[in-house]
Amino acid sequence: MTLRDSMHREQQSKSLLEQAKGYAYEYADGAAQRNVFPSKQALADLEQFVEDLPASFGDATAILKQLHEYGSPATTAQTGGRYFGFVNGGILPVTLATKWLSDCWDQNTALYAMSPVASKLEEICERWLKQLFGLPDSTVAGFVSGTSSAILCGLAAARYRLLHNQGWDFNQQGHNGAPALRIIAGRHIHGAVTKAVALLGFGLDNIEWVEGDDQGRILPEQLPQLDDSCIVLLQAGNVNSGSFDPFDAICDRANEVGAWVHIDGAFGLWAGATKRLKHLTQGMEKAHSWSVDGHKTLNTPYDSGILLCRDRDALIMALQASGAYLNFSENRDGMLYTPEMSRRARAVELWAALKYLGADGVDELVYGMHERALQFAKELGAADFEVLNDVVFNQVVVSPADKDTETDKILAAIQDSGECWVGGSMWQGKKVIRVSVCSWVTSAEDVSRSVQAFIAARDTISER
Ligand SMILES: *Cc1c(COP(=O)(O)O)cnc(C)c1O
Repeated sequence: MTLRDSMHREQQSKSLLEQAKGYAYEYADGAAQRNVFPSKQALADLEQFVEDLPASFGDATAILKQLHEYGSPATTAQTGGRYFGFVNGGILPVTLATKWLSDCWDQNTALYAMSPVASKLEEICERWLKQLFGLPDSTVAGFVSGTSSAILCGLAAARYRLLHNQGWDFNQQGHNGAPALRIIAGRHIHGAVTKAVALLGFGLDNIEWVEGDDQGRILPEQLPQLDDSCIVLLQAGNVNSGSFDPFDAICDRANEVGAWVHIDGAFGLWAGATKRLKHLTQGMEKAHSWSVDGHKTLNTPYDSGILLCRDRDALIMALQASGAYLNFSENRDGMLYTPEMSRRARAVELWAALKYLGADGVDELVYGMHERALQFAKELGAADFEVLNDVVFNQVVVSPADKDTETDKILAAIQDSGECWVGGSMWQGKKVIRVSVCSWVTSAEDVSRSVQAFIAARDTISER
């Protein structure tokens, strides 16, 4: 049989999809019971993948089988309820199902002409997001791979606009001889933001840093004098404490002088889409661009980032693309709003999430994470762990011991237990454990069981 014949047969019989479905169901059913981090055996078995590049074509059934046998056990159980590492979201069932279907479509969402349905769903998502977040009418959305990419787009738009205001066309004239722009950032800004600053050539040494308070919020009274050359970088959701910068006053000051404000809200911007936590993002609508993830708090599949920008012209000029064969249409051509040209139709899952949840569901989802975080903090506090932050959102910063070395040991023991997974971080000069409640699945029982894992880990350390 030739390769082509073989693939035809696979396509016709759908037996591979049936096989994948069987494995997927098996995985899904076991996710809540499994070790949250892979066992040592599962990690060792990853060697099964190490081989020379096959010389010729293989057996698809066997490939899928190998992936399930050695791949599935080496996953972290992010779809169970006890994964609290980094700030990683779970997955809503409706988004997983729509992803399966749209995987079969395999659409490229660069142009309307490539996928009318992707174009339409992007348009709807843009409108709904604007409404949920209460952003200005002029706001447009770019559907990118994640917040890192969204920040890059926001800052590129800012650079284009601020320089254009000074009579400088950045696309044509570039860096050399351009009027200097100033970057103003809070001390606790995320690494993805500094990455964008470096990538775009602003230079990390040129950042004018502004100190933060004990929760990591920027201190507005320490902001330097702003002018129309300033890009101000704020955040909704500190990656440790979950705190929010005071947007209202800072945006007012920026707007008075023609500065640009970007708010990085990878997971925290969603507070602004709720009824009960909206107060945290007061004034955010006065900024110029915003970055947020679908794949964190909203629990869409990876990779789903969104850049929102109130200045359409600045964004599409900054991300400009052209080519004789590209016919932009009357409809939405997605590539105008992203650095990529070819892109999967990730807005399908975003659309499904928003359509399924509705405004009330978004509130319930996000507020539920907040409630679990409060419960976590309360139960940890009752067990004599020190909670170092005000739990305003979904993040809990815990200090399990006075000495950094003990904190390391307790953290490692929790991770080894397989009961739950939490990560370490540094907070106010001290090693800490960071808990991020990010999945709709996490229940009150999951939280209590995880707190027990903290207690057990501390006990094993003190017994040694
Ligand atoms: C996760 C995160 C980012 C980076 O987002 P990606 O989607 O991983 O690229 C940026 N900022 C904050 C505050 C984050 O939590």
